[in-house]
Amino acid sequence: MAGRMLSLFISLLILQGCSNTDNPGSEYYSPDDYTSVPKFNSHVHLHGDNTTYIDQSVDDNFKLLSFVSSSPNRTRQISIIDQEKHTLQLMESYPEDLFLTTTLLNPYGFNEEGWVEEAIAHMDQSFKNGAVAIKIRKSIGMEVRKPNGDFVRIDDPKFDPIIQFIADNNITLIGHIGEPKNCWLPLEEMTVGGDRQYYSENPQYHMYLHPEFLSHEDHISAVENMLEKHPDVRYVGAHLASLEYDVDELAKRLDRFPNLAVDMAERISHFQYQAVTDWQKVRDFFIKYQDRLIYATDDSNYGPKPYFGAELTDQTLRTDQQIRDATTENYQRHWKFFTYDGVMTAPKLPDMEFRALNLPKEVVDKIYLENAQIWFPGIL
Ligand SMILES: [Zn+2]
Repeated sequence: MAGRMLSLFISLLILQGCSNTDNPGSEYYSPDDYTSVPKFNSHVHLHGDNTTYIDQSVDDNFKLLSFVSSSPNRTRQISIIDQEKHTLQLMESYPEDLFLTTTLLNPYGFNEEGWVEEAIAHMDQSFKNGAVAIKIRKSIGMEVRKPNGDFVRIDDPKFDPIIQFIADNNITLIGHIGEPKNCWLPLEEMTVGGDRQYYSENPQYHMYLHPEFLSHEDHISAVENMLEKHPDVRYVGAHLASLEYDVDELAKRLDRFPNLAVDMAERISHFQYQAVTDWQKVRDFFIKYQDRLIYATDDSNYGPKPYFGAELTDQTLRTDQQIRDATTENYQRHWKFFTYDGVMTAPKLPDMEFRALNLPKEVVDKIYLENAQIWFPGIL
């Protein structure tokens, strides 16, 4: 019954969407245009066989870029090669809607002989199999160490031939390097509920507890050095390139590196947090950098991560209907933030209100689709 109600609701949205699209005079989208506008979610993690999340995304007019994971939690269960195979199989069922990002075969083998050659051979095969991007994860900078104990950084010369190979193949490099600045703060001082939830569950990545590790600034400067060395690689900084805390800081790097764009995965609440106190600055940032911002959520196939204090904190326990509801609810809240003209709230920002950005259609089309088509040419 609930499913039928939802499809009726979606049909209504589509009908209303059409009537709005028939009115091209308006410079802004309305909430009703949500379903009719084609969109791309450039950062999701699809593991396992449940396709409910993909189906809801497709119903909501999203195409998806799926990441395999080199996180030890994941690879202990399923190897990277098997994760890739799984995604490639899924892509056969969703040939128009699903795309693959690969990752380093074995970041933890950095010190082993032949590591560079092995990494390049694996990338070569993945690109031939259809991967449109490769993601390097925060294990570089936070987990992998050299024999002398120093953390391996993305600007290490050993990465140069790897990054050159990516550039030569016209593949996009996605970097999740470092963490949000909140990671270096105690839980109670963190600005948004999403971070509080994540670091309470993942103390191994909570840098406030590990002061001997690299600083937030160290991670940012490692990426800057790498981009200085490789102006010909197309680089997408995942999670707002870990510069989520201040649009001015992000703007500085976007000005300095024309080969840099950023995905918004799991960091939209940081824009909203800044909009609480300086809405105009956040909106001006979106207008000025409209060609460099790419919509993404970081969802898994169980849907978006629960917010701190959510009723159901383990997303893996969601029923299919709960996956569908959580997914479209989260997507539509983001749509509202970008398009709506008025005040709104979000569960990751308890007790706060902020004004939605009310961006012109042209900007909305770029952040939801056109920028992804430019920064990930393989999805065209
Ligand atoms: Zn992710």
